[in-house]
Order: sequence, then C-alpha cells, then structure tokens
Amino acid sequence: LSTNRYAVVTGGNKGIGLEICRQLAQKGVTVILTSRDEKRGLQALQDIENSGFSNVIFHRLDVSDVSTIPPLFDFVNKQFGRIDILVNNAGILGTAVDPDIMTRETQKVGGEFPFDEVHWKEISKDSYELAEECLRTNYYGAKAMIEAFLPLLQLSTSPRIVNVSSTLGTLQFIPGEWLKKTLNDPDTLTEEKVEEILKTFLEEFKAGNLREKGYPPHISAYKMAKASLNAYSRILAKKLPSVQVNCVCPGFVRSDIVAGNGLLSPTEGAESAVRLAVRSEEGPTGRFYFRMEVADF
Ligand code: NDP
Repeated sequence: LSTNRYAVVTGGNKGIGLEICRQLAQKGVTVILTSRDEKRGLQALQDIENSGFSNVIFHRLDVSDVSTIPPLFDFVNKQFGRIDILVNNAGILGTAVDPDIMTRETQKVGGEFPFDEVHWKEISKDSYELAEECLRTNYYGAKAMIEAFLPLLQLSTSPRIVNVSSTLGTLQFIPGEWLKKTLNDPDTLTEEKVEEILKTFLEEFKAGNLREKGYPPHISAYKMAKASLNAYSRILAKKLPSVQVNCVCPGFVRSDIVAGNGLLSPTEGAESAVRLAVRSEEGPTGRFYFRMEVADF
C-alpha cells in the first residue's frame, strides 16, 4: 500500500485555500487543487509549481453547482482510489461589501475585524440572491462534498475532514435563544433540523423578519451557513467516530473576502487548517478551533 496521502481542497485558487494547497504539498501530500474557474485554478497550480512543488493537480469544481462534483469524484477515484483529507475551504460572504468602507470601519476598530453591527450597516448590503448563494456555497456545497467523498475517505487509515468555518458562525452571533439552543445540542440535533432552520431563515429573510425571529440582522447568511456547517460537523463526528472532522476559524486574514483587510497573511491563515488536516494523533473530533486552540461553538 502506498504511504502517499491525498487531499482534496475546495476554493484552492487564491487566498487561504491556495496556501492550504501549498502547505499540504510542502508536507508531501498529493493535492487535488480545485477551483470553479479553470483559468484561475491553473494559474494557482503554476504558482505552487513555481515554488518548487510538483505534487499538485488541478480539477474544476464549483461547490455551488452539485453537478460538478461527480466528474471530480470519478477523476479522483480513478487516479488515486481513496483520499485522506478533505478541506472544505471555498466560501463567499453572501453580502455586497464596499471595500473602501470595509477598510475604513476596520481601521476604526484598530485593524481588528469589525464584529459590531453598527459597522455592517455601512459596510455591506445584503440581498436575498446573495444569501441564497451563500448557503448553497458555504453549507450545502461543503456538505455535498463530504457526502460524495466519504466512501473514498473511509478507505484511508486516518481520514480527516477540515471545514474552514468562522468565528462569525459561532452561536454568540445568533441572537435567538431557541435557535442558539437548537444548534448547540448535538444530542438532539439532526441534519433535517439544521436544514429546516436554514429554510425558515430564507423565508424570514424574504419577509424582512430576521431581527424579530432571532436571526442575525447583518452578514446573516454567512453567519447561518457557518453555524450550520459547525452543527453538521458535530453531527457527523458523532455518527462517524473513525473520521476526524473539525471546524476551524483561520483568524482575520488579508484576502479578497474581507477586501484585503486583516491581521494575518494567507500563509498564516492556512496553518491551522493544515495542522488539523495532517495531524496524526487520534481525535479530538467534532470540535471548533480558533486558529490552533479549541474554542466554543
Ligand atoms: P477568498 O475570497 O480569497 O477565497 C475564497 C475562495 O473560495 C476562492 O478560491 C473562491 O474562488 C472560492 N469559491 C467561492 N465560491 C466558490 C464556489 N461556488 N465553488 C468553488 N470555489 C468557490 O477568501 P479566503 O481565502 O479568506 O476564504 C477562504 C475560507 O476562509 C472561506 O470559507 C471563508 O469563509 C473563511 N474565512 C476567512 C476569513 C478571513 O478573514 N479571510 C475569516 C474566517 C473564515 P473564486 O476565486 O472563483 O471566487
């Protein structure tokens, strides 16, 4: 049996995802770098090759379009017959950010991430279309990738799923007590309940009732999608003890999603996800990490 490890990374063409691919390649892992855009994906591949690593392969994948998953699966299955690591990194903010205002508001809080909603009233404009796309990408896309690749992951001796999540998806940012409680109880939580919550969220979004119903009023789809991804990871970890599945917030990283603001470089941002991806010890699984430390969901 080969001792090679194989990893699939989503959204690998730039930002944190590109650096995750580079760092995994540096550790000797064979990386399937995926991107929704072939040109951007091939450019990223070239970039990693130029830094001296040839163990990276490109394949197209748009996580918001499930029809692009089977071709990737067939390719990976044929080439390698199993994977050891799945990193769900692809993500969008799901709200239209004004980059200059984002930078101004970030500076107002000393360069930290502007968590408070007073800033977001100015920084971004939510829309139903973007909210829907955000859930489709950040939650349903990641879940569809896990479901598709589980059979190949389960052929690994140390399967790892790393979901790149966000502190914004922790329950402190969900105002409604019943929502918080439901999403925080791994003993009673099911995928159906998570998805019922997301369905209701979109209805309340459309009706303009987010605040009244206890949903976050700003960057709301992003928060709900990441909170749901966290909850789903806990369900999965319980159901599949042989697979290490964890969520990680990379920190506030200078990338396009935050209009280039941030405290960390994409290289620094990638380190926490890579650590979880290659960690050899057993467990813990079903945890949320802020960078290298376990944190509250
Ligand atoms: P970027 O915007 O730089 O990168 C996002 C990546 O996701 C890009 O490669 C983008 O591809 C890809 N992507 C978006 N939609 C899709 C899709 N439908 N299918 C496939 N790929 C897609 O941001 P980051 O590198 O910062 O983000 C990476 C992850 O880190 C995200 O999940 C984000 O939520 C998370 N995160 C980031 C933080 C930060 O401060 N930067 C903080 C907390 C979490 P394309 O180039 O085609 O758009």
